[in-house]
Amino acid sequence: MHAELIAIGDELTSGQRLDTNSRWMAAELGVLGVPVTFHTTVPDTMEAGIEAFRLAASRAALVLVTGGLGPTADDLTRDVIAAAAGVPLELSESALATVESRFVRRGMPMPDSNRRQAMFPRGSRIIPNPEGTAPGIDADLPRPHGGTCRVFALPGVPSEMKVMWRATVEPALLAMLPDRATILQRRIKCFGAGESAIEAMLPDLIRRGRDPLVGITAHEATITLRIAARGRDDADCLAKMAPTEATIRECLGTLAYGVEDDEIEDAVLAAVAGQGGTLASAESGTAGRVAALLAQADGRRGAPAGVYRGGSVVPAGLGDVQAAADEARRRHGATVGLAVGDVRAAADGRRAVDVAIADAAGGTVAEHVFGGAADLAPTRAAKTAINLVRLRVLERSRG
Ligand code: AMP
Ligand code: MG
Repeated sequence: MHAELIAIGDELTSGQRLDTNSRWMAAELGVLGVPVTFHTTVPDTMEAGIEAFRLAASRAALVLVTGGLGPTADDLTRDVIAAAAGVPLELSESALATVESRFVRRGMPMPDSNRRQAMFPRGSRIIPNPEGTAPGIDADLPRPHGGTCRVFALPGVPSEMKVMWRATVEPALLAMLPDRATILQRRIKCFGAGESAIEAMLPDLIRRGRDPLVGITAHEATITLRIAARGRDDADCLAKMAPTEATIRECLGTLAYGVEDDEIEDAVLAAVAGQGGTLASAESGTAGRVAALLAQADGRRGAPAGVYRGGSVVPAGLGDVQAAADEARRRHGATVGLAVGDVRAAADGRRAVDVAIADAAGGTVAEHVFGGAADLAPTRAAKTAINLVRLRVLERSRG
């Protein structure tokens, strides 16, 4: 079984907004083992919508759609699906009651236009929307050479779309798959090397069609490896994933700092806490990001609170970073002090920053050079500096 995606909205075809919904759904479908063969983006017109559905249904038995389910006159997806299916729209009393109840809860009268959101193509099923007023539509379209094409249409708002996917669409897709296997996923989080460098360290692992499948994504210099395994049950999936995870850990060493939603700052605070230590900071080139990341992570995700003791932020000109690290450590009564100086231009359009760590063993200062977009430089520098504390702790605990 393969699938097609349709994104609907003038804001997409005009270039005002990027179609991130299709990208997200395609990745989710990949994990389920359903290849996506076409992405189509159309404006908010009946003609374009009907044409897109006709073509998609002629090529695929599964089509996933986002956008155009709102209450306004330009939201035409329900009309388009009805027209493509050759059926009328009918009022669903239960959907109307649900839409109305959301307005009652907010103490507002329901505008007449919202009645549209309770209209469904005859024979279709309602996909509940726990996050907003627009329910989704689960419908069958006739295919030109017989049979039907299953259509799942979800609202365009990404947060609503994702909740509805998890609650309704994903279980429905799993039920449609020929081998009703369980699929388990695990994310390994890495920091300290670029996406392509990490990919190069994992020969043969990031190959399409592999089982378990390994995907790689990057966000603000953090690399996520996603392992997805299919099996008879959870235990079978876990057994399949274990050797892949072991290979990843062996190849990447200390580049792999955590799993699932762990951020680099969580790993650093855990490493410091694991030694019975505490951390304080001083920074200039990072606009307070070191303090912000550490303060936000302190006590999060089941970690002990109070490991991060505080820090100081100056806009520029921190001066001698080693002295600043010593001073942060002393002032906050912490076992480890971290200081990050100004971010400056380096060769080849790259940037450099001095980072110092002060601890019971003395201190270290190093210059770190990194690339990437200018607006990301403070975040990259902050994460790089924070990660150095983790590496220092690891190095010292190995003796
Ligand atoms: P709609 O369901 O068409 O009313 O869309 C509601 C909002 O969701 C739009 O204003 C966009 O900001 C957003 N949106 C719609 N389609 C997409 C998409 N394919 N990717 C990302 N955001 C979208
Ligand atoms: Mg729209």
